[in-house]
Amino acid sequence: MEIIDKKFVSLNNLMTRLRKKKCPPEGLLLLFPHCIQNSKCKQNIKHDINECIRCGKCKVKDLLELSEEYGISISVASGGRVALKRVMAKEVQGVVAIACEKELRTGLMAAMPKAIYAVPNQRPYGYCVDTDVYMDDVIKAIKFFVSSYEKDSNRLTAKKKVVTKKKPETKKKVATKKKPETKKKVATKKKPETKKKVATKKKPETKKKVATKKKPETKKKTDD
Ligand code: SF4
Repeated sequence: MEIIDKKFVSLNNLMTRLRKKKCPPEGLLLLFPHCIQNSKCKQNIKHDINECIRCGKCKVKDLLELSEEYGISISVASGGRVALKRVMAKEVQGVVAIACEKELRTGLMAAMPKAIYAVPNQRPYGYCVDTDVYMDDVIKAIKFFVSSYEKDSNRLTAKKKVVTKKKPETKKKVATKKKPETKKKVATKKKPETKKKVATKKKPETKKKVATKKKPETKKKTDD
């Protein structure tokens, strides 16, 4: 049965990677079991995780620091139902879940189709007592969700910059240079010159000459 659980977990992680689920840091939840806490520790981290005084005797200190570094949410899985309720919350877009393979399989099946990256824990003292986890595996899972989101948001901002540069430059140049120059030249040169010349030269000259020369000369010759 343990082999089946392991295969199920690795298959789930493969599917999560293929889905390429992007997640902002505030939408990512880091969930770990309370058995990671040192069994001699008297701090009640199940009630409030911030009760951990970060003495470094267990990995709770490292997980808390990691959540602060990446700006992600962190929660202790004190029981199956409570953990599932936390995972299925609307604000949770992606989950990095630490547990044994058996708990991971049941949790993954219940929380489908939520994007969950499962990280199996280490059990040097057996199940449910002073368990451990490889921090490199946890960091790798967090980066999968967060870094892919950052890359995509950077691409979107780069695209927006290109769009804003091109539009204003081309429109202004075309509008200001061509229109005003051509209209003014045509209007001032052609119309006034042609009308004035025709009106003043032809009409007055022809009428005056004919009226003064012909009439007086013909009347005087016939009387003599
Ligand atoms: S780091 Fe120290 S204080 Fe925090 S849970 Fe582990 S043993 Fe307790």
